[in-house]
Amino acid sequence: MSASSEPGPAAGIVFRVAVDAPLRRLFDYAAPTGHQPRVGSRVRVPFGRRSTVGMVVDTATVSDVPAERLKSIVETLDPDPLFGARHVAFLSWSARYYHHPAGEVFAAALPGPLRRGGVLPELPRRLIATPTGNEVDLAAHGRRAARQAAALELIRNTGGLDEDDPRLDTLGSGWRGIVRRLVDIGLLAGVPIDARARGEDPRPGPALNPAQQTAAEALVGSLGTFRPFLLNGVTGSGKTEVYLAAVAAAAASDLQSMVIVPEIGLTPQLVARFRERLACPLAVLHSGLADGERLRAWRDARSGRARVVIGTRSAIFTPLPDLGLIVVDEEHDPSLKQQDGFRYSARDLAVVRAERSRTPVVLGTATPSLETLQNARSGRYEELELPERPGSTRHPAVSLIDLKRHPPREGLSGPLVERMRHHLDRDGQIMVFLNRRGFAPVLFCGECGWTAECPRCDARMVYHRRVLRLKCHHCGFDADVPEACPGCAYPLKAVGLGTERLEDALAREFPGVAVGRLDRDSTQRKDSAARVLEDVRNGTLRILVGTQMLTKGHDFPGVSLVAVLDADQGLFGTDFRSSERLAQTLTQVAGRAGRRDARGEVLIQTACPDHPLLGLLLAGGYEAFATRALAEREAAGWPPFSHLALLRAEATDRTAPMAFLETAAGYARAGGEAVQILGPVPATMERRAGRIRAQLLFQASARPALHRVLGRMLAALEADRSARSVRWHLDVDPVDLL
Ligand code: ADP
Ligand code: ZN
Ligand code: ZN
Repeated sequence: MSASSEPGPAAGIVFRVAVDAPLRRLFDYAAPTGHQPRVGSRVRVPFGRRSTVGMVVDTATVSDVPAERLKSIVETLDPDPLFGARHVAFLSWSARYYHHPAGEVFAAALPGPLRRGGVLPELPRRLIATPTGNEVDLAAHGRRAARQAAALELIRNTGGLDEDDPRLDTLGSGWRGIVRRLVDIGLLAGVPIDARARGEDPRPGPALNPAQQTAAEALVGSLGTFRPFLLNGVTGSGKTEVYLAAVAAAAASDLQSMVIVPEIGLTPQLVARFRERLACPLAVLHSGLADGERLRAWRDARSGRARVVIGTRSAIFTPLPDLGLIVVDEEHDPSLKQQDGFRYSARDLAVVRAERSRTPVVLGTATPSLETLQNARSGRYEELELPERPGSTRHPAVSLIDLKRHPPREGLSGPLVERMRHHLDRDGQIMVFLNRRGFAPVLFCGECGWTAECPRCDARMVYHRRVLRLKCHHCGFDADVPEACPGCAYPLKAVGLGTERLEDALAREFPGVAVGRLDRDSTQRKDSAARVLEDVRNGTLRILVGTQMLTKGHDFPGVSLVAVLDADQGLFGTDFRSSERLAQTLTQVAGRAGRRDARGEVLIQTACPDHPLLGLLLAGGYEAFATRALAEREAAGWPPFSHLALLRAEATDRTAPMAFLETAAGYARAGGEAVQILGPVPATMERRAGRIRAQLLFQASARPALHRVLGRMLAALEADRSARSVRWHLDVDPVDLL
């Protein structure tokens, strides 16, 4: 299998296969006996000493591998390709762009069971009444016949149901046996469904306002062509209604739509809204699905049966035969970028996929990323604006509370407590944002200065009181809480504020008021996030404490006050994107206030009320901030005015990562391209999970030069044995440089 310089290359038909292995190349195989694969088919191939599943990506007539060493494909798993040629080309492009092993990219595009060689389940059949079944008298004869009659009646009345239609569950758990019996006696028949049949007409939503109308028309008018849009609309301005209108229009033209969202667990209403309004089959794809559920949703998308696919970032790789529209909601959200393994941006790939499929793509947000904003300002993307919230709701009133003048107790300043009481007295609901989970970030001995530190990271352990554990938020390490200082046996103090402690403080401050919490700890159980969100919506919870999770597109009509406990965490970040993140977070949290009739209020506590970023945000909103930030990025040569890639390395050995990156930098510099190579430098948190980490940054004003440098460096590193002593990866367009 390995490349060889021996003469006598293999001729005939050669299949080039992407194998799920960390190698940046395809592998050549000869034809199998039996079913011949095609491009896009999975095959079982011998690989090293084992056999594995790969995908045919290309065919050739000759191979570099000598004929006698070219192994044959063992078996064709998909006589009908799983992916069309265009999808294979899109995935191959993605692998090249991110310089990632093609096999891992193709694996990422497959649901687990298919990755492991399982079969694609067939579509369900449609149950219809036969002519006899339509005429038979339903008069009951005993219990069993009554249940048969009920099943027959349901299917008769609905005019037929797909086998996976939830309405069948109303017949009770044994309905499958009953239906089978009715098929056996000729009253029902199971027939193949027409996957690409047009569904029912969508149900009407609210009449669009003029701005929504203009936006929807622009999207609908560009169906069938590649056009990228930025849908820039404040929270609650009705972006989702615009998506719904465009998706409905696409469905009416027999086109599938793909809707990419950052997190589905936190926005259950979004899926519910799509389901309710579009009376066509929908596939929902996210990481919380069991294998079987995911496989069926994926099958429905691939067959064309699902006219709409809603999913988190990896849904961008779903094959869709009739793709006609791509929506990326909350396009600024960092979770659209995969942060391990194959590090792709679902947002950026959405635009690439739209271009290759000649469809419109709409990136929606209230706080555009500076990349997207620059694309809009330079005319590459068309900007559609929704400046107002529907109805009479005005923008919330935002003000700062100076923590130097009003020292907080347990995080709460006097003026904040007073305003909270005011809103509670008027039946308002309150959201309190604090981006730090746990009880206290520091457990400390006032006598000898001991602090609880993670033994594996350069970081402190966070004290979690609900579960009585110390936890490292960087590596997941956890430990018992010592009863006293391990150094001097003095009692320990919990210093600083996390969401658990804040929740307790609020419960003490406002006795009798129901306080809830939304963070990664409180939402570990399935559906617990949905339950908390529902309790806010129905008014059971009056105060909700939460982390970044609060910023996701929730629609809480009763929230009249939003408090940001500590804006200063983000003001002095070390990453060039920290101010952008903070501006987005503050704007998004603020957007949760006052969504219906009353004007909302937003209070931001800070020890730096004169910080220019806060001033800019307050006076001119996100738009003013973004204009200034873009000018600063341009002056400093940061993205979007340059392109970055980051090579990260880690090892248990203290010197190995830096040495490896020096070698890499040497390979990268060899061609003399116009690419700045900065570093290597130790990572901001040098030790994490017991490994020493370092990084090398590449910065270029033109992508082609950057890609040439990366390609050459990676080829050299893969051939370099010394590179095997470190773990390393390349991150193209990194979202954080830490
Ligand atoms: P966004 O996606 O921008 O946050 P949504 O589409 O969720 O905004 O709209 C916010 C709220 O306003 C929703 O409850 C929605 O039903 C309502 N809404 C949106 N557009 C209209 C409209 N044209 N007329 C009346 N209500 C609307
Ligand atoms: Zn001590
Ligand atoms: Zn740790």
